[in-house]
Amino acid sequence: MNALGPSSLDPLLPSPMEPVDDERFTRHGVRLLLKRDDLIHPDLPGNKWRKLAPNLAAAAGRPVLTFGGAYSNHLRATAAAGRLLGFPTTGVVRGDELAGRPLNPSLARCAADGMRLLFVDRATYRAKGDPEVLARLLRQAPPDSVVVPEGGSNALAVRGCAELGRELRDRGVDVAAVACGTGGTLAGLAAGLGDDRRTVGVPVLRGGFLGGEIRALQQAAFGGPAGAWSLDERFHFGGYARTPSELEAFATDFEARHGLAIERIYVAKMLYGLVTLAEEGAFPAGTALAAVITGRPEASQSSAASR
Ligand SMILES: *Cc1c(COP(=O)(O)O)cnc(C)c1O
Repeated sequence: MNALGPSSLDPLLPSPMEPVDDERFTRHGVRLLLKRDDLIHPDLPGNKWRKLAPNLAAAAGRPVLTFGGAYSNHLRATAAAGRLLGFPTTGVVRGDELAGRPLNPSLARCAADGMRLLFVDRATYRAKGDPEVLARLLRQAPPDSVVVPEGGSNALAVRGCAELGRELRDRGVDVAAVACGTGGTLAGLAAGLGDDRRTVGVPVLRGGFLGGEIRALQQAAFGGPAGAWSLDERFHFGGYARTPSELEAFATDFEARHGLAIERIYVAKMLYGLVTLAEEGAFPAGTALAAVITGRPEASQSSAASR
């Protein structure tokens, strides 16, 4: 099972950077670059590798317990890492109505990778920070399990994502854009890119609560604010995993223009936001603008395709 050994988490880093010719940007004198974090690792794509790797190093082979929704990329990445490195994983899944039902493809992958799934009701899930609730969950996990938070976003993860910002800085990027779930990736990216460049985050959940969470993550990771970042809350398209036809049409068109499959839940919303911002004149002529491709669509994931 573990014949590949620990080196099988070896990443492709720095991730490639690809210039794309898109008149919606070139018309404004803006150079669009795709930062291909989706190519970092076949089973832990994108920011999931950057966030998990430092946490797994700290766990040092102990079992890992973590949290996610029924379609969580973070749960899948954690399960894959457990399979590749040979440590036990427990996934606490939001929604007890899922228990005893056939697993969706995402959770089926987790289970096939050996993850033990614990389905909890939404109130319990929300209370997962409570020491008593957590203790109860840990009793159902292998002894000595290390807890990694939802989405993998903690101080270690944020510091791991600072490397993404440094890679962009080294390549002369002026503005970087990233889609945000927990905001952990943006918190690190902005710090690594530095105060004299700009980072734009596109939240894919509605609510407007993310700014405070990013500040808290930066406080935990760096002891205070870091980098020059802002959020544009206009592009969530109704909320998490909502992909109305306008977004779908945009993504299909982008794919046709540039021959790259576009993940819909995060990446499509970020790219849509960038096209809008460019049209609004948000980027001065001469700007090197990097769009971080944090993941890829399900169907083209290599391990899904090979099963
Ligand atoms: C998890 C994920 C994100 C969000 O990352 P956060 O650090 O939680 O903001 C963005 N894009 C993709 C493809 C993801 O899987």
